[in-house]
Amino acid sequence: ELHNTLVELRGNIRVHCRVRPVLPFDQIQSSTSGSGSASSEEVIQAVSDDTVMVNCMKAGMLVQNKMFEFERVHGPEDSQEAVFEEVKSLLTSLLDGYNVCIMAYGQTGSGKTHTMMGSQFLDELSGTQQEAQQGIIPKAAAELFRLISEKPAESHTVEVSVMEVYNNEVFDLLARDEHSNAAGQRRDVITSSSGASQVPSLTSEPVSNASEVMQIISSVLKLRAHCPTLVHADSSRSHLIVTLTVSSKSPNAVALARRLQSAKMDMRRSTQKEWWSPRCRRANLAAHHSADETSASPASSPCSTPSLSPCPSPRHSITQTPFRTKLQLVDLAGSECAGMSGVSGAALWESSCINRSLSALSDVLGALAEHRPHIPYRNSKLTHLLQDAIGGDAKLLVMLCVSPTQRFITESLQSLGFGTRAR
Ligand code: ADP
Ligand code: MG
Repeated sequence: ELHNTLVELRGNIRVHCRVRPVLPFDQIQSSTSGSGSASSEEVIQAVSDDTVMVNCMKAGMLVQNKMFEFERVHGPEDSQEAVFEEVKSLLTSLLDGYNVCIMAYGQTGSGKTHTMMGSQFLDELSGTQQEAQQGIIPKAAAELFRLISEKPAESHTVEVSVMEVYNNEVFDLLARDEHSNAAGQRRDVITSSSGASQVPSLTSEPVSNASEVMQIISSVLKLRAHCPTLVHADSSRSHLIVTLTVSSKSPNAVALARRLQSAKMDMRRSTQKEWWSPRCRRANLAAHHSADETSASPASSPCSTPSLSPCPSPRHSITQTPFRTKLQLVDLAGSECAGMSGVSGAALWESSCINRSLSALSDVLGALAEHRPHIPYRNSKLTHLLQDAIGGDAKLLVMLCVSPTQRFITESLQSLGFGTRAR
């Protein structure tokens, strides 16, 4: 209880950091780069469970004992299980009616895919990964279905969608392109009248257990690897977004209270609109007041339609339509500041799109952290798409992935700065 209250006080954005171990590939890369063994030196350390310490050479100067604090810091020895343990409670929030987003941020090679999917996942693409090696996505799917199994039968249904944002375009990876049969069809993003971001005609597949989820994701990634014509094959150049949408028919008390709250927010938003007629507003207010009453006794049956108006009524959305919440799991494109010199044409456009979407994300998180009235969601497709998963009362967890060595220090400091700005 107390822990939850403290988390609430800190707001809905949490930043965790994972420092990966020094890997054989760090040594090889540093020896071929010709800058000597110093570049594979470990300069970033997890010194406690909430602090990262940096001791590095920057522009010839020694940066010593620079500390970064986050809600939680994981060191190289921390297992996939230990990382998931700190994320797990978000699944309970999801069933309590919150939208939840977990995103991995970091340069290419810092461990984003390892953290979100698990390393073996990409090697095998079989969906039968060993449990201990699984990343957040398979573990979150398993936890979600475990929680659902404790609820009344048939009360919850889950659907999965897989999207990619590449060059500021959104692709539905569960749809096939009509012409090339490649994985992916371009989609638009819109904002509904209630402020939810929507992708019209996005493909979503019903799933009833975690292995179905992983089978769908791996089949998509396999197809993407084989048909890179439409959608870019190199995963580090695009943002991958897996969405699990949970619809519930018989919510618990917390979720019911949340329904009422969001219905109120919906109404506040819609009554602000000029085209919303006074008659319609009155009808909605009436419906809304009685919705307040119905919420006190969750067992009461859906009541008769309170108004003759064709306007959507919040009372309806509370008692009749299934309530939807989204879990969005995001493996962001590599955050490296690719040297612009020597890059031209498509490659230049590509990296400027990545840089723009990640800086738009940083702007949105910064604006949210500072409680600014205007949050610039519309500046990129990525932030527009994730609007209702990172703003409002949604719960966002940013997992910063960091390489520990001197060689990547510029990128790592950039990532740590990104995380600090979001808090
Ligand atoms: P990214 O997705 O950020 O480009 P990856 O997740 O592909 O990075 O990680 C790069 C390499 O480092 C992979 O071979 C991965 O297995 C390995 N790796 C990353 N994080 C860890 C970790 N915590 N423990 C062990 N190996 C890791
Ligand atoms: Mg990756």
